[in-house]
Amino acid sequence: MIRVSLTLLIFIYLTLFLSAVIALWIWAEWRRTRNERRAVRFRVRCAICSFEFEDSSDDPLPHCPRCGSPNERDPFQLL
Ligand SMILES: [Zn+2]
Repeated sequence: MIRVSLTLLIFIYLTLFLSAVIALWIWAEWRRTRNERRAVRFRVRCAICSFEFEDSSDDPLPHCPRCGSPNERDPFQLL
């Protein structure tokens, strides 16, 4: 039988518990960021009228459905 002092046992328990909490936190944050990136991947903001629209085509210059002007695909910034 392995003899472990109460202090060491508490230390091991707290270390494992905190490691699990931090790992879950990092995983949840990574998942949230990934979902936000997926949500705005095809979003384009018109440079003329500031209208935001989704365009999943391969067109390098998608046209705005409101004013018809072509727009570049800049990475959409989350506020
Ligand atoms: Zn527009």
